[in-house]
Amino acid sequence: MSQVQMPETLQDVYNFVGGAWKKPQGTHQPVMSPYFGKPVGTVYYSTTEDVDAAVQAAKAAFPAWAALPLKNRTQVMFAFRDILLRDLDIISHAVSLENGKTIGESRAGIMKGIEVLEFALSIQNTDSGGRMEVSRGVYCEYRREPLGVVASITPFNFPAMVPMWTLPIAITLGNAFVWKPSEKTPMTSLYLANALKEAGLPDGILTVVQGDRVAVEAITDHPDIRAISFVGSTKIAETVYKRSTNNSKRCLALGGAKNHIILLPDADPQMSGQGISDSFTGCAGQRCMAASVLLAVGDVDPIIDQIVAQAASQEVGHTMGAIITAEQVKFLHEAIAQAEADGATVRLDGRKATVAEPYGEGFWIGPTVLDNVKPGTQAATVELFGPIISIVRCQNISEAMAIENSSSYGNAASVFTSSGAMADYVARHASAGMVGVNIGVPVPREPFSFGGINASKFGHGDITGAQSLDFWTNTKKVTSKWAMQNDHNWMS
Ligand code: NAD
Repeated sequence: MSQVQMPETLQDVYNFVGGAWKKPQGTHQPVMSPYFGKPVGTVYYSTTEDVDAAVQAAKAAFPAWAALPLKNRTQVMFAFRDILLRDLDIISHAVSLENGKTIGESRAGIMKGIEVLEFALSIQNTDSGGRMEVSRGVYCEYRREPLGVVASITPFNFPAMVPMWTLPIAITLGNAFVWKPSEKTPMTSLYLANALKEAGLPDGILTVVQGDRVAVEAITDHPDIRAISFVGSTKIAETVYKRSTNNSKRCLALGGAKNHIILLPDADPQMSGQGISDSFTGCAGQRCMAASVLLAVGDVDPIIDQIVAQAASQEVGHTMGAIITAEQVKFLHEAIAQAEADGATVRLDGRKATVAEPYGEGFWIGPTVLDNVKPGTQAATVELFGPIISIVRCQNISEAMAIENSSSYGNAASVFTSSGAMADYVARHASAGMVGVNIGVPVPREPFSFGGINASKFGHGDITGAQSLDFWTNTKKVTSKWAMQNDHNWMS
């Protein structure tokens, strides 16, 4: 399936508790497809009581799962991988339908999730524990033990990939995992939960609770939930982090972004044009790694012409996806108008984009290039979350780095140059957790962990890779000494 299609029937989306789909007691909302601007399902929200019932089912299932050897748990996750690959087209379509991505983008997101799953599959061979004789006859060892019931709260923009950053690792390590998807994109959870059930995951080890703030607060306040990962906007990330840690839980909360690309005059025009255009138009700009500010150093106009031409060639509704809600389209229109009022010139105007049927009633905006944006204005500082790039003109690299460093965020920064020295300078001085050199979306591949700094991340450690093992487990240290047997032949 290469085109997103309207389903024939609407899907009801419930909680997944103890291995079965159960209708939660809270309010319900339509799930809107950004492609069609129409409901494709109904999501039912969880009350505090619904979350508690789900956590109790998870808690009851935990001991038996935790008691299984890591190698046995890993076998279930191998089967999960096989099912995801078998159903890749179906799940990709489901992600696109509710999120607005192109089907190719949805597929790429799931594949990135599978890459993290593959990291989880490797734990059985790479994290075999440690044992050492620390004095004569005395041994110290460490054992990695799961925490119990843990939770992940995820955003709308990667309905499958972001949960797959945490779910495979936390479950493989022996935890019972509670997932609260975004209420804007809850339907993908149906596919992931059913796939895990088919793979043989015991009932209760994956729980899905649908809902909004009420469900999130029930999770952050629940005494039986030991650790919480959150991914979403900075304001909510900070709130969730503070509330969870106040309740003595571990929390790692990834927030929003305003990513800068530093474009130097010696950059390769072809590579820069393509890389920068793809970065701000991919996923219609709705990713935390999207380029948002282009710091154009010196005379780089021929390259900017390439970026504009490349972005203008996007076909909205075909090569570029939709915006999550009608309200967000309205916000992006207002942001462009505000940028103009703040003195920017509109080089490419996405407000004029048209989209062919059958997507005419969906939520769309085309790629937008704002030039001569002034530092400090909304377009230069606020995360807009749409296919908009703000070009800020800079005299030199120092001025560009000062602007990048002044951002409160710190997710990603990239430089396009043919100078190794300049690339190293930016990598050293960027105030960002992920740096790209001639790469517009510098997402590290596993086992290199994903994550920013500053207001893009609250908490310590990484959400994927080696450090995530310490987040989802306790390491118990065991020190042993055995009395020598007097009878050395006792077995005979
Ligand atoms: P969001 O913060 O609105 O929602 C994220 C989650 O928080 C959802 O599950 C939602 O139900 C819940 N939530 C919303 N309002 C809440 C409230 N008042 N109290 C408690 N919970 C609440 O984010 P979004 O719009 O779904 O996603 C886009 C944002 O996520 C962007 O800012 C983007 O940069 C960020 N993001 C960051 C990363 C990263 O790795 N740093 C990755 C993906 C997305």
